[in-house]
Amino acid sequence: MRFFRWIGPQWIWQGKDINAVYLTFDDGPHPLATPIVLDFLAKHQLKACFFCLGENVQAHPDIYARIIREGHVVGNHTFGHESAFCSSPNSYLSSINKAGKEIESRYFRPPYGRITPLHARKIMKQKYTIVMWTWMSHDFSASMTLRKLQRRCDDIKGGDILVFHDNNKTASKIEAYLTAAVQIIQRKQLNFRTFEMP
Ligand SMILES: [Zn+2]
Repeated sequence: MRFFRWIGPQWIWQGKDINAVYLTFDDGPHPLATPIVLDFLAKHQLKACFFCLGENVQAHPDIYARIIREGHVVGNHTFGHESAFCSSPNSYLSSINKAGKEIESRYFRPPYGRITPLHARKIMKQKYTIVMWTWMSHDFSASMTLRKLQRRCDDIKGGDILVFHDNNKTASKIEAYLTAAVQIIQRKQLNFRTFEMP
């Protein structure tokens, strides 16, 4: 991913505050996982950025409304989780714009982190800021365990943008993963931040 860093300033690769980490959640809103995540964040008084899929916002408008109501930031994650490697720049952009009708945000995160310079240029022309990440939980992986996640968390450092998922694959385990991750982050004496609502 470093290869693409030259493209321009309209990318966020890392959080500005080096004493904090930035929690982000991809793929929601999901009827089971997202309420669990929102309850967790409320309990710990944390704010996060949710990169939503347009189709999921259409399917679960009430959960999307709750994300906004509780003061979290949202971003666009395409309409149907298209990969930039499998769709032309134009059809990719129309997926983003379709999602943009549901999600009021200038932040965009490409599904799978896949993007090409051509796709990126078109997205930035639409005034989106592309948000990548520095630390991936792999919470969706069938082979992930609590122990493995805890070990991954040891690598977390200030300024990291952390990715978790609120989707079908994580619904049953996201609460345990978040509990462990937040504990480790607090032990490192890092704060939690999120992006400004653009
Ligand atoms: Zn995704």
